[in-house]
This record gives sequence, structure tokens and C-alpha cells, in this order.
Amino acid sequence: TCDVESLLRNADVAMYLSKSRGKGRFEFFEPAMHQEAVDRLDLKADLQRAIDEGEFFLHYQPIFDLATGRVTLVEALIRWRHPTRGLVMPDRFITLAEENGLIARIGEWVMREACLQTAQWQRIPGCEDISITVNLSMRQLQDIGLVNALTRALKDSGLQAHHLVLEITESMLAQDPDRSAEILGQLKTIGVKLALDDFGTGYSSLSYLRTFAVDSIKIDRSFISELHRSATSTALIDAVVNLARALGAYTVAEGIEYSDQAALLRKLGCDRG
Ligand code: MG
Ligand code: MG
Repeated sequence: TCDVESLLRNADVAMYLSKSRGKGRFEFFEPAMHQEAVDRLDLKADLQRAIDEGEFFLHYQPIFDLATGRVTLVEALIRWRHPTRGLVMPDRFITLAEENGLIARIGEWVMREACLQTAQWQRIPGCEDISITVNLSMRQLQDIGLVNALTRALKDSGLQAHHLVLEITESMLAQDPDRSAEILGQLKTIGVKLALDDFGTGYSSLSYLRTFAVDSIKIDRSFISELHRSATSTALIDAVVNLARALGAYTVAEGIEYSDQAALLRKLGCDRG
């Protein structure tokens, strides 16, 4: 069917997609684009209910000390148990939550839940020093309310600030370095730790390392999976490990899947994985 109304609507959908992909370009409409747009709107509308109905939950990914094999840190990863779609991953809904302003509430929930769980683990003998690491989104990092939300989560859970790590990516810092510096400065004052996530895939800017005193650098999984096939990857990891060490930060290798990868990383002096 091609009535005027659908023609305009379809042109609009193609235009938005084109805009989102950059300036001075065009895009032909495909029926799948409309479905995708409808999908996004549906999901976006469902987010409010997801918060109210408690449909979010956290997966915890262990981070091992490569020298001792002990779990010293755990990364909290948000998941959405959608009543009809099943499991929805954050890459599908975080941007939507940033667009409709629900990200602050979702972020606050994650922080709170993660802190409470960690405080509970710390009461288990042998787990007293376990720490938690939480991912921040771009919008959270520009919202001064984050500092208050975080302070509350720490206070209510009884977790000490130095047991909480916040993960930021280089592309987040690139958006608004001044504002980010201000908020990160305040977070540092509270005593939480900072990690640079997915290092090596963004700008890998030395000036960021100078401006934002991070406590750890997470080497992106793409370098780890290449370890055995690529001498360049090995050399780069070696360089990042030494760079981090010189800055007083520790390194975390992401996405280790084989024991020989762990062995090589250990040899390169990587601290955790
Ligand atoms: Mg992360
Ligand atoms: Mg990561």
C-alpha cells in the first residue's frame, strides 16, 4: 500500500535513520526500518513498567586475581527480564533509557542493588575484601545527581566507598571532558575507584590518562582473543600493562576464555582477568 500518510511516515523513518548515521547523506526506506522503529518505541514505553515491576536484575561476572586465582572483584551487569520478549540485553535498552530520561532511576537501582549484594558477600568468611564494579552510561556521567545517588547507595548498604569501582569508557569522556572531570572529581572525593573500560577501542588518549586519575585499566576483549594469533596484540598488551603500572593503576584483561591466554597474560604482568 502506498497512501500519502504511509509514504510520509516511511520517509520520516528513513530520514531519522539517515540523521542518526551522520550528516549530508540519504537512506532508502526498507520495511524492516519501520518494524525497528516500532520496536524501539514499544521497548521504550515498557521501560517505566520494568522499573515499577522489578523486571531488571543483575548478572555478576567474576574478576580473578591472575596471580592467586582468587575472585577479588565482581562486575555487575544489568539484564531485563521482559514479560513477552524474554531476556533483553543492555545494548538494546540503555540508549532508550537515556533518551526518555529513565537512566538516572535505572542507574540508581543498579548501584543500590550492587552495593547491597556486595555488602552481603563481605559477611561470608573469606570474602571480606570483595569489591564490586559498576558500568556508568554516558548520561549518568553528565548528571550531578549521580553523586547523591551513589552516596545514598553506599550509606544504605554499609559498603565502604573504596570497595566500589565505577567503569567509564573513553568515548564517554570524549563527549564532555570538562563536565566529566568535574563529576569524576567529586566521585573521587567520596572515595570510590575508577576504571577505564574497553581500553584500546576508543581514543586511548594519553591526555585522558593524565586528566582522569583512574585506578585500573580494562584491556578490551578484542586484544585478548587475538593474543595467540597476533604478536602485535601481545606487544600492545605488554605496553598497556607497563603504562598502567607506571601510573599506579592495575590492569584487567577482559574476556579470557582459555587457560593459555591466562598464562600468557600472567607472564605479561597483567593483574586481573
Ligand atoms: Mg564494563
Ligand atoms: Mg568492558
